[in-house]
Amino acid sequence: MEKGQKHTEKAKRKIREKALEQFKNGMPEKTKIKLRENAKTNSNFGMKGKKHTTEAKEKQRLSHIGKTSWNKGKVCPQISKGLIGREASKETRRNMSKSRKNGFKDGSIKLNDSNFKKNHKSIFKGKTYKEIYGKERAKEIIEKGRLKKVGKIKPNALKFHRSSEERKKRSDRMKEMHKSGKIILPIKDTKIEVKIQNFLKKLGIEFFTHQYMKISHGYQCDIFIPEQETEGVIIPKKTIIETDGCYWHGCPICNLNSHKNLERQKERDNLRTKELQEKGFRVIRLWEHEIRKMKMDNFQEILI
Ligand SMILES: [Zn+2]
Repeated sequence: MEKGQKHTEKAKRKIREKALEQFKNGMPEKTKIKLRENAKTNSNFGMKGKKHTTEAKEKQRLSHIGKTSWNKGKVCPQISKGLIGREASKETRRNMSKSRKNGFKDGSIKLNDSNFKKNHKSIFKGKTYKEIYGKERAKEIIEKGRLKKVGKIKPNALKFHRSSEERKKRSDRMKEMHKSGKIILPIKDTKIEVKIQNFLKKLGIEFFTHQYMKISHGYQCDIFIPEQETEGVIIPKKTIIETDGCYWHGCPICNLNSHKNLERQKERDNLRTKELQEKGFRVIRLWEHEIRKMKMDNFQEILI
C-alpha cells in the first residue's frame, strides 16, 4: 500500500477474518517468538519502552480538541463490573489528591466543581488561606469575611431588599393583621407566667393564656380568667393577669437598667390597663420580683 492510502471497510473485514482464522487456537509459538525478536531488534516497533515527547503530546491534544471521544456513551459491562467495589490503592489516592491540589493551584479545578466541593474539606484541612489561595487572594477573602462580621456586607442583603416605602406598607399591613387578631404570635410562657398558671390550676380556676385583646392597643394578654363560680372560688369579674418582667416593664423597686423602648412600654402598659378597665375587665399587674417570692396564700389574697 502506498502512503496515505486506506483499506476499505470490506478489506478490513477480510483481514480481521483471516487473522481470527489464523489464531483460532491462540497465537502459534512461532509467531510469538518472531514478534518478540522483532520488538527487541527493531527500534521502530510500536511505542514499547518509549515516551511521547511533549511536542507530540501537544500535537495529539490539539488534534483531539472538538472531537467526540471514541467511547462516549459506550458501556463496557466487563470493565465496569470488574471495577465495582474496588478501592483505589494508597498510592493512587495519594496521586489523585496531589493532582487535585495542583489543579486548584493552576486554576484547572474551579470552586463550583461539584467533585472538588466534595473533597475540598480534606484539601483545606489545617491550612491557611494564604497557603491555599496565595497571598493576594487570601487578603481579599479575609477582608470580605471581616466586613461581613462587622455588618457592612449583609448576606442576602440584595436578595431581600425592600425600599423604605415597601417596608412601611408591609409594616402597616402586619400591624393591621395583629390588630384584627388574624395573626397570633406563638409566645413562650415565661417562668413567672408558669408559676401563676400552676396556682390557678391548683385552685381549679379556668383560664386562658395569650388571648388576643381587641382594644385600640391590641395585644396578647398573659392570662385571661373568665367570670366563674367553681367549688369555693368565685371570680365575679373577667380578669386579666399581667406578669411584668422587672427589666422590660421598668419596675421601680428593682430599678434595673433602662432600655431604649422603656418609656414606650410603660406608656402602652398604662394605656392597656386603662382601656381594659373601661371595657369592664379587672386588671392585675404583678411584678416579676413579687411573683418570685409569692406563695399560694399571697396569690389567693390578691385574686379574691
Ligand atoms: Zn422588680
